[in-house]
Amino acid sequence: MNFAFTVNDTWMTMFLVLTGPFIGSFISASALSWPMRSNLGLTRSVCDQCGTRLKLVDLIPLLGFILLKGKCRACKAPILRQHIIAELASTVIALASVIIFSGWMMPISALLGFLLLFIALVDHRTQLIPDGASFSLIGAGALVLFFLHGKDGLLTALTGALVGYGIFWLVAFGYRHIRGRDGLGMGDAKLLAGGGAVLGPMALPWVILLASSSALVLLLLTSKEKELHRDTQMPFGPALALAIYALWLWQGTHDYGVTLLNLAI
Ligand SMILES: [Zn+2]
Repeated sequence: MNFAFTVNDTWMTMFLVLTGPFIGSFISASALSWPMRSNLGLTRSVCDQCGTRLKLVDLIPLLGFILLKGKCRACKAPILRQHIIAELASTVIALASVIIFSGWMMPISALLGFLLLFIALVDHRTQLIPDGASFSLIGAGALVLFFLHGKDGLLTALTGALVGYGIFWLVAFGYRHIRGRDGLGMGDAKLLAGGGAVLGPMALPWVILLASSSALVLLLLTSKEKELHRDTQMPFGPALALAIYALWLWQGTHDYGVTLLNLAI
């Protein structure tokens, strides 16, 4: 990318690795309060169960969890697993971004990961994907591909968004006709549009394959056999978000996705 000023890779690496876990804590608190906005702006400051104000040391990501042995100091209720998972995930996102990318692509890759983490957490809890988050993903994909590959990149991103939405719409349409009820949410379609914008249309079959198989594995791991039946519902969003980010990182190891993008145009 030819920006007027460049990024010092060492400073950016230190910045992202140090702030990553805190951003995870912030994302976790935001995802927990969505769509209410009262908690947005800071990391969680009170216990989710008893409302006791947390000490500063308790708020240090990962370390706070270990020091408290996973329990609230006041009410001994277990700290929500979501917080520790989000802090771990954001740490991995920051590390992967600085290892795979350089320059401006490091913070861009981290931001994409944080956005997808937010989407996954909200969808897991509410079975809804915030439209604003999916549209941000589409916008981010268009911007990044435009800066990387000019007009061709922009075209790839827009084609990817349209194809992603179209594929999901078709599948949902077919499902409704065969089963006579809705099985797939249009929130997933907008998320897949975001994935198409970020990765290009040629990556979409891989996104769907990877997301379906990881959703199936998660479903088998998390539910007992007798609970599984053909009407079992699970939010597909977290699996989609994971697949999109995994392929983003994979493309990053292949010269910023140029290989897949060249096929796309
Ligand atoms: Zn408590």
